[in-house]
Amino acid sequence: MLWSEHAILIVGEPLTDEKADIGDRDLVILRETACASGAEKDAAMSGSQWDELADLALSRVRAAGVEYADIRLLDTTTRTISGEDRRIAHLRESTDRGFGIRVLHRGAWGFAASSIISLEEIPRVADLAVEIAKGSSSLAITKVHLAPEPVHRDRIVTSCRLDPFAVPLEEQTALLLSTMEVIQRHPGVVRSHASLWAQRDRKLFVSTEGSHLEFNLLAMQGDCMATAVHNGRFASRSFNTPHLRTGYELVRDADWAREGARIAEQAVEKVRAPAIEAGRYDLVLDPEHLSLTMHESCGHPSELDRALGYEANYAGTSFLTPDKRGTYRYGSAHVHLVADNTEPATLAATGYDDDGVSCQKWDIVREGIFVGYCTNREVATRIKEERSRGSNRADSWGSVPMVRIANIGLEPGTATLDELLADVKRGIYIEGHGSYSIDQRRYNFQFGGDAFWLIENGRRTHMVRDVIYHGITPEFWGRCDGVADAGHRRRYGFITCGKGQPGQSGWMTHAASHARFRRVDVISGHTKADA
Ligand SMILES: [Zn+2]
Repeated sequence: MLWSEHAILIVGEPLTDEKADIGDRDLVILRETACASGAEKDAAMSGSQWDELADLALSRVRAAGVEYADIRLLDTTTRTISGEDRRIAHLRESTDRGFGIRVLHRGAWGFAASSIISLEEIPRVADLAVEIAKGSSSLAITKVHLAPEPVHRDRIVTSCRLDPFAVPLEEQTALLLSTMEVIQRHPGVVRSHASLWAQRDRKLFVSTEGSHLEFNLLAMQGDCMATAVHNGRFASRSFNTPHLRTGYELVRDADWAREGARIAEQAVEKVRAPAIEAGRYDLVLDPEHLSLTMHESCGHPSELDRALGYEANYAGTSFLTPDKRGTYRYGSAHVHLVADNTEPATLAATGYDDDGVSCQKWDIVREGIFVGYCTNREVATRIKEERSRGSNRADSWGSVPMVRIANIGLEPGTATLDELLADVKRGIYIEGHGSYSIDQRRYNFQFGGDAFWLIENGRRTHMVRDVIYHGITPEFWGRCDGVADAGHRRRYGFITCGKGQPGQSGWMTHAASHARFRRVDVISGHTKADA
């Protein structure tokens, strides 16, 4: 096991009033350090040098007689700036560099990786990958066959107007400070939080089949939160610009003053809201809330490695087994769940996956019928598909790529949000993410949310709290009787989707318009201790 090199720069603890001046000085020092490390990184990142290393690795494993091999060289820089209670509390920039070599030999995989990118280290790691494949082969029950894929030579660059790593730190911290100021100005709010996150990935993928793919990818996100207290209870509301593959314009284009004031006002209403009474309600779910429901109840069960019985230990397996494909009723005729790894700016739209397969768009559920899986080159052949769907991703140079949820979204319908609400006599409108649980086959679940409003006679009236709805995946989606139109569609990114042993964090985007579900069982999370 080899560990990555991390250069982590942390600016202090949450600052007290007395330390505020020291904090400002530290920010200046950090910026200079970050620039120096950037220049050094660029020198280490010369394309021709990486090509030379990749050629050396692949010729080494070819000589050992492997059926297939690829190498991924990766250089990742991540920056987080966060503030708490009107102060910049934390600024961190980390760099993570290394390479991983994957070989298919005697029908089995071998993988080895290192954080030392050098001509001396490449042969050692290449030989280790081959040795591991030999060991795997001696134990394998079935041989690995890869679905064919054309050879690709390409360069993928995230398009952006403003590089977040070039925007002055003063501008970014000023935005966080002014947002927290707006939030805390609201009577009843006791805490504020705001943060910005950005990541750049420079990657080279080269395979023995001849594919050569260069990546320069960017992702960005910002968020803020207001917390209010009342009668010994607290409640928070938050706003986020979703994680997207774009530049700082994502943050600059958002109206932080308006959103900060909105969440402050809603946090105060939320903490004073009455608890929900248990019962059956019609639900209208907002796109952000649906992004989590789709992720858990459609995304994970559509991963073919789970459905085939791999990944059983870590909340694995799936109720969507291969015998159900093409005939199983997953939801109502309103439910079209589409995987689209080609939509610009979405997290899984990286041009090609870590098998070197080009990103695609396909149906998971069409008119309520389950029709497709997320696959990679290995598992696609197990269900006799001719080509991988291109959903094989690793979360770092030191991780083995595996089947990952695609950008799965709910296709828009034709209604407006007002029309969906108008036809509800007594229901609940839910926004955002809350706590949830779902069994490992992704069949029985319960979901909370971030904010809840009672719907009475077609209108949202007032907030309620402690709403938890539960259901069985196909019954729940079978209760969907309306989806709002494309004008209501919003996208939300996930960067902490856990899977695998050792665990990895997957990235994907889920888009939806508001949708209505009839007669769903709701229980109250309210306990005597909350009274
Ligand atoms: Zn997940």
